[in-house]
Amino acid sequence: MKLALIEEIKSTPRPPIEEILSEISRILQLNKITETIQVDERFNVCSRDIVKFHALKILGVRYVPVSYGSKEKIDLTLEELGFYEDLQFNYLRVCRDLNELIKACWPTPLVRLNSLSTSFGEVWAKLEYLNPFSNSIKDRIGWYMINDIFENKLGSTTSEKIYEASSTNTGIALACISKNFNLKTRIYFPKTVQRCSDFYMRLFGSDVVRVPEELTIQAINRVKQDSLKDNALHINQFENDANFIAHLRFTSKELDYQLRSIGVRPGRIVCALGTSGHASAISFYFKNRYQDEVEVIGVQPARDEFIPGMRRVETGMKWIHYVKIDKLIDVSKDEAIKGLIKIASGDGLPIGLSSGGVVAALEKLSNINNATILVFPDHVYKYIEIIIDYFHSTNTH
Ligand code: PLP
Repeated sequence: MKLALIEEIKSTPRPPIEEILSEISRILQLNKITETIQVDERFNVCSRDIVKFHALKILGVRYVPVSYGSKEKIDLTLEELGFYEDLQFNYLRVCRDLNELIKACWPTPLVRLNSLSTSFGEVWAKLEYLNPFSNSIKDRIGWYMINDIFENKLGSTTSEKIYEASSTNTGIALACISKNFNLKTRIYFPKTVQRCSDFYMRLFGSDVVRVPEELTIQAINRVKQDSLKDNALHINQFENDANFIAHLRFTSKELDYQLRSIGVRPGRIVCALGTSGHASAISFYFKNRYQDEVEVIGVQPARDEFIPGMRRVETGMKWIHYVKIDKLIDVSKDEAIKGLIKIASGDGLPIGLSSGGVVAALEKLSNINNATILVFPDHVYKYIEIIIDYFHSTNTH
């Protein structure tokens, strides 16, 4: 057996996520690898180990145990394969390019919320607004999806343009990160998205198109058609497995590592739903590692309510159907704004509307003894138009 660096190994392109999930699940549950991956003398993975190799790659190990000719029995933990080394990237935060910049911002902080912690249980928040481009959780997938295209040679390599439907954050993330690849971006926003988003896109040199629909299958098909016509790459965060993978490999693993470092076992994790990328990956990761000790709660806008970045499950989500979400909680826009104000005034944290929705959802749940983790996707500044309207309508400020 030899421990090879993962980048030394050659394999076929990644199979669809559905084909790899059960292998990833098995590895996460065991927390170890019990057999080598068989390779030839040029480090090509043999066909029967392709799924296992990609499972390890998605989990982000640094080393792969390989053998030539035949398999060998081994007993190596994920830690021994450098599972957490991804997360110790750049302590001093000196960055040569945008790829290094985003990783230098990870792990995003995990902070205890005084205003919500009670004698029943502590409440911690993961501050995704401390990502560098869109100041949101969507930087992670924007970065990962673009890199994935080049690494795995997906789509037409002659395209110089990226088209994507977004509710702002993925749009900003793609517009910024595409500079590393000399790609132009065109972002499609639903008409309900706040006006300042158009100006952000112009600031970052991106085209912007307003569409009459919400982020529905119809809107996504419109982007698909336009991209085919113009030889552009349609990134499609709603179906692109790199979305789920980015959150499995980074967001979930980070959170687990942070909680282990303080000896906290999470009892509940609350996430806002949009594409379902981060909630699904977090559920998949934590339930495989800790089973139903951890409840995962999905938060969606109540019927006919608009909360930027969030969607209802029935509008079409991919990965949520592969995982267990213990409860779905509906919140209204006003409840989300009240949640945001509570954290801003109580804890001094400038969280966004979907984060406020997560706080509102927590208030609808019963207390638990174990820690609750709230994932806060972004900050308030992009939504200031909505907050001003709210203050005017309620005459509170
Ligand atoms: N909150 C905000 C502000 C978002 O922009 C998004 C996604 O666009 C979400 C929550 C939902 O995240 P996900 O797409 O991972 O479900």
